[in-house]
Amino acid sequence: MMLEGKVALVTGGSRGIGRAIALKFAAEGADVAILYAGNTTAAGETALEIEKLGRRALVLQCDVADLAAVDAAVKETLGALGGIDILVNNAGIVRDKLVLSMKREDFDAVVDTNLGGCFNTVKACYSHFMKKRAGRIINISSVVGLMGNAGQANYAAAKAGLIGLTKSVAKELAARGVTCNAIAPGFIETEMTDELSEKAREAMLGLIPAKRAGSAEEVANAALFLASDLAAYITGEVLRVDGGMCM
Ligand code: NDP
Repeated sequence: MMLEGKVALVTGGSRGIGRAIALKFAAEGADVAILYAGNTTAAGETALEIEKLGRRALVLQCDVADLAAVDAAVKETLGALGGIDILVNNAGIVRDKLVLSMKREDFDAVVDTNLGGCFNTVKACYSHFMKKRAGRIINISSVVGLMGNAGQANYAAAKAGLIGLTKSVAKELAARGVTCNAIAPGFIETEMTDELSEKAREAMLGLIPAKRAGSAEEVANAALFLASDLAAYITGEVLRVDGGMCM
């Protein structure tokens, strides 16, 4: 098993890509804490699946945009699971609109959650990782952060910001044995993309050389690699998981 005895904290672990990562890590021997926003049923289902794999699960409702709440959730995880080895920043939302009709609140909400949430968890785990002289941070960005996307100025800004944050944290913590990398998924089948119209879906598929959407598990495979000992010398990297969409 690739993560035997490790503890992972996965934000947005209740559904979609975060759930796939939580389950993949548990299957590879990790205990997993998941943070979620409000979907208690989905979070409970993920926890049950983790426990069925023989691992401990901790479920914490916590708005990642709230630094004090994140701090408390990290402390609770450290207390309950005995440490944190892997931090996955996956929680994310969309509020798509052209800039002309995008409200300032739509911009702030997406940046506060998708980018600010990552800052908050990294800040809350920072001294723990420094003291351990080990750790893995994996931030789920997006190809949209690399390419931009009409109708997603808020989301693209947050996802591009995550890449700058990733590289800066990678530089700050590399000498302490902590790696920090980003994954940039392309078009992945989850509830987030279920909301796309058939026309938008067709347009998206037209941009993908592999001619298909990716699965949450395919993103989880990349996260597993970056979390494992195999990736000990990889830091500050942005790994695209996109079927060739953004080269
Ligand atoms: P989903 O909408 O399926 O799941 C989002 C998850 O984030 C849920 O677990 C949700 O919790 C949680 N969440 C949302 N807001 C908060 C918050 N404020 N605090 C804590 N948790 C929160 O999304 P996906 O699985 O599709 O996406 C996961 C990540 O991958 C996102 O960052 C997204 O931007 C990124 N991504 C997705 C792509 C795709 O094609 N699907 C492509 C590229 C990147 P709850 O269940 O309680 O609502």
